[in-house]
Amino acid sequence: MSGDQKPVRREFTGDVRLDGGETAPVELRGAEDVYVSAEAVSGRLTIDDPEYVFTDVPTGADPVADDAVRTVVAGDLDDGYVDRVDGDVRISGAEDVFVEYGAAETLSAIGAEQVFHDDAAAPTRSPEEYEVSLSGWEGTRTVRDPRDGISVRGARNELTVTDARHDLTVYVAGWGNEVRIEGQAIDVTVYFVGRDNRVSVGPYVTATTGAESGYDNELDSDPLPPEALIEETESEAYRGLLFGRHKVTYQKPAPDREWCPNCGETADAIVTRHQRDAFFLFGKPIRTYDHGGGAFECERCTPVAIGPVELSPEERRQILG
Ligand SMILES: [Zn+2]
Repeated sequence: MSGDQKPVRREFTGDVRLDGGETAPVELRGAEDVYVSAEAVSGRLTIDDPEYVFTDVPTGADPVADDAVRTVVAGDLDDGYVDRVDGDVRISGAEDVFVEYGAAETLSAIGAEQVFHDDAAAPTRSPEEYEVSLSGWEGTRTVRDPRDGISVRGARNELTVTDARHDLTVYVAGWGNEVRIEGQAIDVTVYFVGRDNRVSVGPYVTATTGAESGYDNELDSDPLPPEALIEETESEAYRGLLFGRHKVTYQKPAPDREWCPNCGETADAIVTRHQRDAFFLFGKPIRTYDHGGGAFECERCTPVAIGPVELSPEERRQILG
């Protein structure tokens, strides 16, 4: 290996994607933002003089020498996507660089203005193996009930998951991406590599952040609606009671309360439970013998198994369409 071999220079305009066709070591020179995907580099990765580096690979290794480079990828470049290189990679003259979990064997960042790295937790499977991935700029995609995981790479993409019924890992690398997850009784673990990304989940989804290599990323959960605790509404309880005396029970939402008078906890969904012993005619109580209840309960102290509310026609169309 010597430094006197002149590297091959390849010129591109716009976005450039390295996908295994170049002889390593490869230098990617002068791209704006660069995204290095999981398992992309089967060697060392060196980032020379970037602004910010957001990385799930820890830094500190020896750099790839610039005189070892065999291929230079340059030109009038926008963003760079490093999807696969068999060997070492140098990235020079980039603005921000996003390095996914397991993206390279080692990483060195020379002269970076700032490096963001959080090793709080690692995804249990490589993001490369997830069923769904969206990569690029301002892409949109909707998927129903994906398995294992979803990944988003790039900037200002929108990925929507409907009707999720399996636990999910969500891996977001880049900036300004939005992920929305609607589902039932599932756990979601989110990994952020970058900045200003947002993941929001519906009320029956439990979401936690696994790690955040970056800043200003958001994870939001919709509050549980009171309807989730209602087994039967008053009108449902009266339905079909044409003639005679009946005892019925039903629940009503208790609006405008921030904490539950029963258990004392702050709660999203608070309802009151009622009983009525009455004489009914055509579904209406015409004489009440006993009307009890008003006891409060919330999602923390309810004996009811919390389930999804009935879907509105619009939600049904979104999920089934
Ligand atoms: Zn309560």
